Amino acid sequence: MAKVIYPGTFDPVTNGHIDIVSRAVALFDEVIVTVARNPGKTSLFTVEERVEMLKESLKDYKRVVVDSFDGLVVNHAKQVGAVGIIRGLRAISDFEYEFQMALMNRKLAGEITTILLMPHARYTYLNSTIVRNLAQFQGDVSEFVPKIVVEKLKIKFGKNKE
Ligand code: ADP
Repeated sequence: MAKVIYPGTFDPVTNGHIDIVSRAVALFDEVIVTVARNPGKTSLFTVEERVEMLKESLKDYKRVVVDSFDGLVVNHAKQVGAVGIIRGLRAISDFEYEFQMALMNRKLAGEITTILLMPHARYTYLNSTIVRNLAQFQGDVSEFVPKIVVEKLKIKFGKNKE
């Protein structure tokens, strides 16, 4: 049984992330979507909120599990028995960073393979930062993120909240 992990910040999950998960599910038996607990990075949503939004958005995928991890991605991959790490590649601009990380992770754990998947072209310009910025100024994010995320963003940036 081939299991992979899909690590990221997911602050918040977007339809681009979901597109990558759906492609990974078509290739592997189990996909563990895992939120990085990175204390050095300030985020809009807590790890628990991000996990909750991922779980709700991915509830129809029976072979997807959502969790979180501390420390090195490769250690988490080994711990859960994953053979690979899924990452998304939107454009050439993602490539340099992803390539560097893939090679470093291979150096750390040669048995874990990084798999880069390209989303549908409609998601190539989409990222969590753009979604957060749009939502902050009451822009409509409904075509970019799952329903649960639209609701959570409304609560975060509610009009009665200054
Ligand atoms: P990280 O901080 O680890 O980059 P992100 O949540 O921003 O966390 O992204 C996680 C992974 O998903 C990365 O590999 C990123 O390239 C990919 N990704 C992010 N947005 C999209 C998108 N719109 N389409 C496809 N892949 C994406």
